[in-house]
Amino acid sequence: MLPRAAATAVVERLARAGFEAYLAGGCVRDHLLGIEPDDYDVATSASPEDVKRVFPGSRGVGEAFGVVLVRVGGHTIEVATFRSDGTYADGRRPDSVRFSSAAEDAERRDFTINGLFQDPVSGKVVDFVGGERDLRERVLRAIGDPERRFAEDHLRLLRAVRFAARFGFLIEPETARAIRTCAPRLAAIARERIGGEVRRMLSEPARPRAVRLLEEFGLDAVVLDEPHRVSVGRRVETPPSEVPFAWALAAWALDRSGDGPETECDPDLPDRWRAALLLSNDETNDVREGLACRRALRAFADLPLSGRKRLAARPGFPMATWLLRREAPERADAVDHWHAATPEAERWPTPLLSGQDLIAAGLAPGPAFKRVLDAVFNEQLDGRLTTRADAIARAIEIAAKDKGSGAGVPRSG
Ligand code: ATP
Ligand code: MG
Repeated sequence: MLPRAAATAVVERLARAGFEAYLAGGCVRDHLLGIEPDDYDVATSASPEDVKRVFPGSRGVGEAFGVVLVRVGGHTIEVATFRSDGTYADGRRPDSVRFSSAAEDAERRDFTINGLFQDPVSGKVVDFVGGERDLRERVLRAIGDPERRFAEDHLRLLRAVRFAARFGFLIEPETARAIRTCAPRLAAIARERIGGEVRRMLSEPARPRAVRLLEEFGLDAVVLDEPHRVSVGRRVETPPSEVPFAWALAAWALDRSGDGPETECDPDLPDRWRAALLLSNDETNDVREGLACRRALRAFADLPLSGRKRLAARPGFPMATWLLRREAPERADAVDHWHAATPEAERWPTPLLSGQDLIAAGLAPGPAFKRVLDAVFNEQLDGRLTTRADAIARAIEIAAKDKGSGAGVPRSG
């Protein structure tokens, strides 16, 4: 069963039981835009108890908000009782909700394009907020008084950017003015929720527009917890349309600092953004590693073969070459060309020697082992060693020198 058919079945069953019921919000918007919705929400006059009576075995969640999860045909449909939100004391959540009418339920929603209902059987759209027209004219407009709506729930500031960016809609002037005015209030929102919104907008194809809007409205300062800036670089625009969050973050970080391959960004940035956006360990490490590889990649043309191969084997290499694509396309071409022309087995061959081989050759295990193995492997990567016998002879030579100099073999990688 398709998700839409499941949602339609829910609406029909509620209607047959005598209740008013519609598809609501994002799924109506997406459907009218010709986009396949991610999930379907149903809004109804039935109380949560009624919904559970019509669908025995369904589960109430956030019961106070009147939401019941109904399983139909392998899909979970969120069924919410028409409600109107009470006052917002904390700028995050309503203090109370009151079950109400379809019209009031539309009014409590954030933007007109998100405030539509639809009867899935007749296809009739029920529009209390002018959302159909705004969809047609490609306008993002707050429902009601924009400043009040953003003051109620500051997360709507970021939702505005996400929707305007995603659909390429113009933000209606009063709504835009209110976003600018209310931007500093976003600081009251939990870092986790800010990070969640930013993660979504930067992972979507419209990430360049999202970044531009965040900076245009001064939301970047609160989101990143650093002074407001307007990007000078355009790395975030580099295709493909969807990239890992860490790539988009690194691109944005560099864009805020400059536009060429020599651009440096603050070494503390990954840790600062980690705190600001509640990045995971993996995301933070990916940003750090990608930026480090990018720095190393500057010298690519002058690196020995072993240096190139070691760099290409690092986890941050794909991100680094992607960043270079916008900064110095001809250099990125050269790196890509080399990479494509060098088979994997040649880029990262099985080492000719292991620690066991060194022990068998009579060398005593110790801290010099790794240095010797690295140096031998470098010569293998450089194409200067091709047999095990040569590698062992070379290892003994290097080990003797390593011991002699005390300083050890030059470190690789
Ligand atoms: P997405 O495609 O990102 O899921 P969506 O519009 O479905 O977009 P949801 O967060 O799933 O967004 O919310 C579903 C609906 O609930 C919205 O369309 C909107 O009508 C309403 N809504 C969600 N968050 C808010 C909010 N913070 N303030 C007011 N209404 C909201
Ligand atoms: Mg949704």
